[in-house]
Amino acid sequence: MPRPSTLSPRLLLLLPSTTYRATAFVEAARRLDIALSVASERSSTFEQAQPAGLLTLDFTAPADAAARAAAFAREHPLAGVLGVDDNTAVVAAAIAERLTLRGNPVAAALAARDKHRQRELLGRTAGSVAVPRFALYPADADAAALGRLVEYPCVLKPLQLSASRGVIRADSPAEFVAAFRRVAAILAEPEVAACGESARSVLVEQFVPGPEFALEGLLVGGRLAVLALFDKPDPLNGPFFEETIYVTPSRLALAAQCELAATTQAAATAMGLVEGPIHAELRYNERGPWLIELAARPIGGRCSAALRFGTGDEGTEKGWVSLEELIIRHALAMELPTLERERQAAGVMMIPVPGAGELRELRGVEAARAVPLVEDVAITAHRGQRLVPLPEGARYPGFIFARGPGPAEVEAALRDAHRRLEFVLG
Ligand code: ADP
Ligand code: CA
Repeated sequence: MPRPSTLSPRLLLLLPSTTYRATAFVEAARRLDIALSVASERSSTFEQAQPAGLLTLDFTAPADAAARAAAFAREHPLAGVLGVDDNTAVVAAAIAERLTLRGNPVAAALAARDKHRQRELLGRTAGSVAVPRFALYPADADAAALGRLVEYPCVLKPLQLSASRGVIRADSPAEFVAAFRRVAAILAEPEVAACGESARSVLVEQFVPGPEFALEGLLVGGRLAVLALFDKPDPLNGPFFEETIYVTPSRLALAAQCELAATTQAAATAMGLVEGPIHAELRYNERGPWLIELAARPIGGRCSAALRFGTGDEGTEKGWVSLEELIIRHALAMELPTLERERQAAGVMMIPVPGAGELRELRGVEAARAVPLVEDVAITAHRGQRLVPLPEGARYPGFIFARGPGPAEVEAALRDAHRRLEFVLG
């Protein structure tokens, strides 16, 4: 593998320590033959050996991180910066602003990370983005009194967590009180409380019924390119909202798909997001599309492996363009190849947490991998790991990937593979 020449543009990639996304980004950078600098929160002993390749930044202090990145860039000029999750997206915005690189305004990235701020901005779009009615309450409020006030059904949620952690539906005052206490307890967990102000409030929203979709997109100069629209075929009616299957292309009527895209574009504009990856969740019912959430980052976990673009060899990696490659090219203002997803249908299942307990053994992985159309079963939980179901937990034990002629076949293959897995908990 040739080393990138000193003329290769340099990308600063901000990697949280708990991400599955590092490999895909590093791979993409290597394929593109660009120079890569990785910033993480913990200093590494390799830093001195690789001064251009590694640096340490405090992701909780975006302005400081931007100042450090600016100093770094004087030695190692940067052509682009990328965050991979909600927090690093804010830091990337601060660095991009400071170094006039491609990126979002900091205020927009902050709004994308904060569910309440986001609702406030979208609530002002005069109906071009439908959002549920909402109200924010302090986490130490009198739950019983609130329970008499709010409309039902409603959804309670923290402002900054992800993967549906702490998101709970309540249909009655009694359920509200229990849910409120449960969310407050999650907010009081030390690692959550450390997020500061955002961990001291609970957002309460009207429950929006209807099937849910996820839209993966890339903003280029404020315009949304839809990279994929995923169906979420398992109904998400609560009380908890475990993500399971994502399948694309969507089977929703084309006109409705266009409405989802238009709503997402309007939401991004209202929030001030202009550049880079977005991941939106929307519902669709008789009143049209509703925006559940818009994040200024790519799809989470390992899920991006379900997406590939252009044309390549079936069954191999050859020729295809990955989501990470598109994102890096865009960040570096390199020419974009086609944004057209492959012809085949593709899907991923975030394997639901099978229960609470220590993972003793996982049987059936080979059988699951052998299911036709299944491409991979990636188990990320390790033996001995404590599995915690929603709403307290957040980590899926693994991911199943499938590709095939159509979304129905892909969905069936994912379900079939999942049925073959047997988790033994202790
Ligand atoms: P997270 O950032 O943890 O994913 P979300 O706000 O996206 O939090 O909520 C997670 C899931 O909970 C959504 O994908 C959706 O299924 C459900 N949900 C959240 N808010 C609502 C709502 N107001 N109405 C209906 N479902 C909701
Ligand atoms: Ca979400």
